[in-house]
Amino acid sequence: MRIGFGWDSHEFKPGVPLKIGGVHLPHDQGLSGHSDGDVLLHAITDALLGAVAAGDIGGYFPPSDPRWKGADSVIFVKEALRQVHLAGYTVSNVDSTLVLATPKIGPHAKTIQARVAELLGIKPTQVGIKAKTPEGMGTDHAAIAHVAVLLEKASRKLKSKERSATKKAKKKRR
Ligand code: MG
Repeated sequence: MRIGFGWDSHEFKPGVPLKIGGVHLPHDQGLSGHSDGDVLLHAITDALLGAVAAGDIGGYFPPSDPRWKGADSVIFVKEALRQVHLAGYTVSNVDSTLVLATPKIGPHAKTIQARVAELLGIKPTQVGIKAKTPEGMGTDHAAIAHVAVLLEKASRKLKSKERSATKKAKKKRR
């Protein structure tokens, strides 16, 4: 197994759409950044890359590269997931905590959970979405995301599937 951790922050800015976890949230401000500013997807990307010691998001998608201006952060997650699969691992589960003053994440948590699960090819029950307000932090102007991921060796999963298939076949023969 491998564990990964990712962290990101983006500043709120009026006049841009707000995207968190690949979901558009109704709000009067969005997150500024070179890409679409999706703070959760960026932290997930770094957690996945970190888990397989494959560098960080900036190494793959430098903010200096005009190709990533306004880019959909789904692209970043897909590349990180590709690196995870290349290293021979699959995602066991993801847990996250968002820290932001507004908007309230609670009403959107299930939608974000389903979207992140879809992006990672796992079930919603394998994705934790939690949110807190930044009490006493002085960061009401920003959104922050903390993410932990657990990976397991792809072959182990396959082997156990093969084992149970063999057991079933043996039972049938009996
Ligand atoms: Mg970022």
